[in-house]
Amino acid sequence: MSKVLIIGAGGVGTVVAHKCAMEETVFSDIMLASRTVSKCEKIAAEIKAMHGRTIQTAAVDADNVPALVKLIKAYGPKVVINVALPYQDLTIMDACLEAGVDYLDTANYEPPDVAKFEYSWQWAYQERFQKAGRMAVLGSGFDPGMTNVFCAYVQKHLLDEVHYVDIVDCNGGSHGKAFATNFNPEINIREITARGRYWENGEWIETDPLSQSMMFDYPGVGERKSFLLYHEELESLAKNLKGLKRIRFWMTFGESYLKHLEVMQNIGITRIDEVEFNGQKIVPIQFLKALLPDPASLAANYTGKTSIGCLCEGIKDGKKKRYFIYNICDHAETYKEVRAQAVSYTTGVPAVTGAVMMVTGKWQGAGVWNMEQLDPDPFLADVGPRGLPWHVEER
Ligand code: NDP
Repeated sequence: MSKVLIIGAGGVGTVVAHKCAMEETVFSDIMLASRTVSKCEKIAAEIKAMHGRTIQTAAVDADNVPALVKLIKAYGPKVVINVALPYQDLTIMDACLEAGVDYLDTANYEPPDVAKFEYSWQWAYQERFQKAGRMAVLGSGFDPGMTNVFCAYVQKHLLDEVHYVDIVDCNGGSHGKAFATNFNPEINIREITARGRYWENGEWIETDPLSQSMMFDYPGVGERKSFLLYHEELESLAKNLKGLKRIRFWMTFGESYLKHLEVMQNIGITRIDEVEFNGQKIVPIQFLKALLPDPASLAANYTGKTSIGCLCEGIKDGKKKRYFIYNICDHAETYKEVRAQAVSYTTGVPAVTGAVMMVTGKWQGAGVWNMEQLDPDPFLADVGPRGLPWHVEER
């Protein structure tokens, strides 16, 4: 029986709080803390109504280490689940070290003023977590997260050497809005408008944003055009998969989404630097975020499915083999269960599963870990029954 502290009360925080509440034998006490406490209170009221459990709420500024340390020490959780924004990763890691608790997140640190996705900042905490005897699990969402665990499973059970990996991510759902992002708009748009990048034969190859595409047949959704993007799990998987020759990441976007994005880029409203407006400094992408629908608000009318997986090719007993390992998730079903759409759900369920692995001792070890470095078996045995069943097919 453990206490858990969840930081961040957006779409993903909603799922994490509901799913922790549904694990009464693992999480005896739950606190949901975020910048805007009214959002935590709304989720707490839903949880009380739907699952009959009372959870605590608190206001916290996760950019402020002393405030975090005070909260963590006063509450005394076994693990902190960080589902605020990537900008808060380092302050929350600092606070966990100071308060002496384990840490888990779903997205790697990004500095607010440069769209730069890399693990260097968080990997630099390795020695401090090891010395403190604390565990930090990085990127326990779907991608990164499930995709890393899928690769670890393929490496452990299906292939002797994994040579080629294509991670393919399709949201085949529809929310009925002209333009909206499925998770935090600022983080999402920064990711998509950045230059593409993939890893081949020991080198990173850069591509113009959204300049490479392919058709892929997604189980449960069908054929969709998919665009090459840089995605953070490529960095750790390129390091940790044995014998890897190439790894790429692909995501589907509809014509209308891309047209809106192109116009927004052309007029400069996706800029992440400060501009002067009416004697005030504003960051255009933050202003855009204020105009766009809150991703959590899309959930009620969302239909269709997400389909995300890893296509892995390599050698088994001297023979070439190719496997596709994936999950399909239905937006309307997840709304019924936890009042969230499938993109938040597919992120939140692996976050809770990772935390369950840590507090039950199925995953142990002082230091900073990416998901593929941990045993995939207990995680995959757990994550299906918790809501993300997964499948393997030979292709
Ligand atoms: P939202 O924007 O919906 O929610 C973010 C939450 O964090 C909000 O409640 C926000 O508070 C809170 N927050 C932001 N800044 C602070 C701060 N300084 N102090 C305290 N709380 C703060 O985002 P999502 O729920 O969509 O995403 C959450 C995380 O999940 C992100 O890091 C995202 O990158 C990651 N993610 C990972 C995926 C994966 O597959 N690995 C996929 C999708 C998302 P407020 O309400 O006041 O704004």
